[in-house]
Amino acid sequence: MNGASLASAARRWSGRQRALALVAALVVIAGLSTISGSVFVAPLTTANFAPASGIVAAAVLMARRRSRLAVAAAGGAAIIAGNLMAGLPADFVFIVGLIRILEIVLFCEIVDRTGRLPRLDSVRDTVRIVIGASVASLFFAVGVTVVRLANEVPLDQAFANDSFVAHLASFAVVTPLAFARVGQGGRAPATEIAAQWALMAATLGLVFSPLIGLPVAFLPLPLFAWAALRLSAFGMTLQMLAVSIATSALTLAGWGPFNSSTASDSQALTLLQAALFIFAGSTIVLWAKRVEDELRIERAAAKDRVLRRAVEQAQTAFLLVERIGDAYIVVQANDHGIRALGMDPENEFFSASSEINIALPSDHPLVPGLAEVADGRPRWQGELVLDAFTGRADAEVSIERATGDQSDVMSVELADVTAQRREDRRLRALVDRERALTAQYQELSRQKDDFVASISHELRTPLSSIVGYAEALEETELDPMQRRFLDTITRNAGRLQERVEELLSAAKRAADSVDDPHPLALSPLIADVADDLRPVAAARRVEVVLEGSSLELPEIIGTEDAVTRVLTNIVGNAVKFSPDGAPVTISALVDDDTVELFVRDSGPGIPPADHERVFDRFYRTEDATAKATPGTGLGLSIVRTLLDAIDGSVLVESDGRTGSTFVIRFARARDLDPAS
Ligand code: ADP
Repeated sequence: MNGASLASAARRWSGRQRALALVAALVVIAGLSTISGSVFVAPLTTANFAPASGIVAAAVLMARRRSRLAVAAAGGAAIIAGNLMAGLPADFVFIVGLIRILEIVLFCEIVDRTGRLPRLDSVRDTVRIVIGASVASLFFAVGVTVVRLANEVPLDQAFANDSFVAHLASFAVVTPLAFARVGQGGRAPATEIAAQWALMAATLGLVFSPLIGLPVAFLPLPLFAWAALRLSAFGMTLQMLAVSIATSALTLAGWGPFNSSTASDSQALTLLQAALFIFAGSTIVLWAKRVEDELRIERAAAKDRVLRRAVEQAQTAFLLVERIGDAYIVVQANDHGIRALGMDPENEFFSASSEINIALPSDHPLVPGLAEVADGRPRWQGELVLDAFTGRADAEVSIERATGDQSDVMSVELADVTAQRREDRRLRALVDRERALTAQYQELSRQKDDFVASISHELRTPLSSIVGYAEALEETELDPMQRRFLDTITRNAGRLQERVEELLSAAKRAADSVDDPHPLALSPLIADVADDLRPVAAARRVEVVLEGSSLELPEIIGTEDAVTRVLTNIVGNAVKFSPDGAPVTISALVDDDTVELFVRDSGPGIPPADHERVFDRFYRTEDATAKATPGTGLGLSIVRTLLDAIDGSVLVESDGRTGSTFVIRFARARDLDPAS
């Protein structure tokens, strides 16, 4: 709708184009000044027709701020040149020209001090044009009056009222034309524009007709109002200029309401200029007010549209419900709100108007909440199951009294939480199942422990008796073969006893067997365990190597029995899983709080996925099972339980291919008992 104005187009011109335009304007200004100087002016008077001033003012306002003074000076110079060409006395022309330059600068300063282009769609800017025109023209008139007085013109003839109104009209009619955007604010179709122009021409014809002979100068007023309310900026200002030129010509021809038998031509023209200023000034301000309001309304409507669209497309459902008697009527709803009522917003019933009228059935789930709010409760919130959205839906609902004094209108907000609730239920079911499985597992595990405990208990007594009798037999005379048989019986019964003890301690929580942990020398225990294991190891040419660091260790917290069992298990495993001839090394690392032992072997290693599981009861790696390495899978679980009981810990490091390192961490004695 908004095309360019002369001024806005000029801002985009190149420097060269601007210079050319300025030269052209100066030529026009000089020409117009020559005309007004030669036609209307007697010595020591100024023209009562001054379009040149309006053009210079427009050029100055169009110029960039830093070149404004220069443009004003150039314009003033062009006017001076024109006046000189008209043959006016040079000294008077120069002094008046100087006053004129100051006048134009003053006008421009009042209209705009920032360097931006004045806008006709701003009441503030158009009022500034009117005020600027008044103040600047008064300044010029007073200046000219002073010059006249200095030239001994009598006081009663000295005031330059003719130039005052001439300049007023020039600023109000000519200058705005430069800032009028083509098409801006135009509301009238072509036929209306034509009718308005035709009526304006006819009215002026009537006003200036010698046949009428009545002073009806105000007749065009409604047509100016029409222009202000319906024409575009450019159309309005152009009409103003056309009216000025036409009426000036008619007045000079001796026609129209401004001529009378008592007034000279010049006085008639002055009167006309005053009328033109009033018409033009009020028309541009009225136009600005109208367009500014339209813009404001348009902006508000656009904002409203955006908000409305947001509400309509929101994933939250909104309803406005009114209570009428006992019934609850939905009077407005967004798309999602209509879905919440179980209906389809695409249905043409809803597209017809934004007002809807749907009575909720009396058993609708929303009714109890609505009734509470209608009866005075400020707000109702809860979760409801609705036949809505896409079937049965869980909805979070909030009902509030709508603002305003219509107390029986309530706003309802519904959020579809069906998917969330479904997910909640699924998760809850999963957790329940997990829990049941865990309970089942614990029960099985308990039964297994019971079973293991009772079996081992049952085995213990007969075993003791076998071992006892075997020992008794050892005291007797036996031939070599019998002795060999007896050795085999004793050895295997001993092994069996060890296994049974292992099983028993695993079942009855090894930790219970750790009584009263106390400071303990670690190094001798390591040496003892290594010694004990050496015969077994030697059979497979495995050497248990104690690195220096493990020989002189500080005291730790524990019991002899627990620590010995831990070490026997882990070093025993290392020997058991080592390949023939490879060493098992034990090293240590001490810090302020702990003593760490590293038991390293070069066996098959333990895959990372099994690093934790090897400490579970009965767990054995695939490798151990496949190679039928002897064992029960209980040792490491006992180790961990024992270490827990003495504030220690254990973990394994291995890449699953080249050996394992078990890291056993004990608590240092002085930490628990600084006194000792
Ligand atoms: P067991 O040795 O009687 O089978 P453990 O609880 O001592 O029971 O060990 C559990 C499993 O951990 C072993 O069966 C074996 O698979 C694995 N494991 C333990 N120590 C080692 C080791 N040094 N090298 C390789 N695997 C080991």
